[in-house]
Amino acid sequence: MDPTPADTPPQPSPNFYGLTRGLLAGRLAGLGLPPYRADQIFTWVYQKHHRSPAGMTNLPAALRERFESLCDLELPGVPSVHGTADGLTHKFVLTLADGARVESVSMRTEKRLTFCVSSQVGCALKCTFCATGLMGLKRNLTAAEIVAQVVAMGDFHGWRDDRFNLVFMGMGEPLANYEPMMQAIHILHDPLGIHLGARRITVSTSGVVPQIRRLAEEGLPLGLAVSLHATTDALRDRLVPLNRRWPLAELLPSAREYGRRTGRRVTLEYTLLAGINDREEDAVGLGAIARDLASKINLIPYNPVPGLEWKRPSPESVDAFARRLWPIAPAVTVRHTQGGEIWAACGQLGGLSPAA
Ligand code: SAH
Ligand code: SF4
Repeated sequence: MDPTPADTPPQPSPNFYGLTRGLLAGRLAGLGLPPYRADQIFTWVYQKHHRSPAGMTNLPAALRERFESLCDLELPGVPSVHGTADGLTHKFVLTLADGARVESVSMRTEKRLTFCVSSQVGCALKCTFCATGLMGLKRNLTAAEIVAQVVAMGDFHGWRDDRFNLVFMGMGEPLANYEPMMQAIHILHDPLGIHLGARRITVSTSGVVPQIRRLAEEGLPLGLAVSLHATTDALRDRLVPLNRRWPLAELLPSAREYGRRTGRRVTLEYTLLAGINDREEDAVGLGAIARDLASKINLIPYNPVPGLEWKRPSPESVDAFARRLWPIAPAVTVRHTQGGEIWAACGQLGGLSPAA
């Protein structure tokens, strides 16, 4: 027998930060209210940073009073912050309702403020040099939990930098959690919300080829970074096990197609491991791939992960590797590590910090 309405337990309201404006308008319609109320609520929360319905003065009193039946305005997790001594890098740990811990990082340079967010708790893909990979996948994050990381970092920085960049380079593989990632992007990109430009958002992937192709169809000029790390299948199979499923002959054409469809130059990320992928022939191979794809190269000297044997090349050999690339590749940058002292550098996220 179907349960009668009286037997159905009341559904908890969804978290606000996971709702697109369209979904919020749909819930408002259920309460008999017009869609422009969603516009007003988005503006209050994301543009005026006002989190209490009581102060949303242009909403009808009846709506303010029963706001909790519409959605839950609490951030889905409690943030704690650890900063470096120079004050430029902060690691945020968001402890979620189920006890899972999500890590995000904000990095300030002279030119910009960048927020790095996680898309999953842990990661199933087990790249052999990555701390998050060592954890295995605990669970996917919801759109609300992704947006909340940005809101927590924006709150901390006081929303003075309205032109921050956002990179999906924290814990997890964003393209393995595609729908929540895209929903979060739509919420952050909304002109009545934070209105973060698509060009300011970069999705980093270890190479989930079908989802790279899907992302190219979204009609948004999002940045794409492909974690290459090796120029032959033999070595990439060892470093990035996902390569056995989608080898270079499939990955590189999907990256090329992404660049063609979006008009964006794809970035190739390359973590340098001493004696493994920093030899002269690696530089030659990487330069050839980058030139062929008209992509940028971002070199990341390996950040040590306790228990792993890999070594970071000396600054001189990083420099020598970059110099070999410059004549052949169109654009090369070296990612200078920020946040090593608080275990917030690339590949170090995953509960390693003494404070975590
Ligand atoms: N899962 C996505 C995004 C998160 S990792 C991806 O793999 O692209 C962000 C970047 O940090 C990736 O390029 C990743 O390969 C790199 N990385 C992982 N562990 C690292 C480490 N220990 N040192 C330096 N870079 C690392
Ligand atoms: Fe996952 Fe990226 Fe780490 Fe690989 S490098 S294990 S894909 S988070």
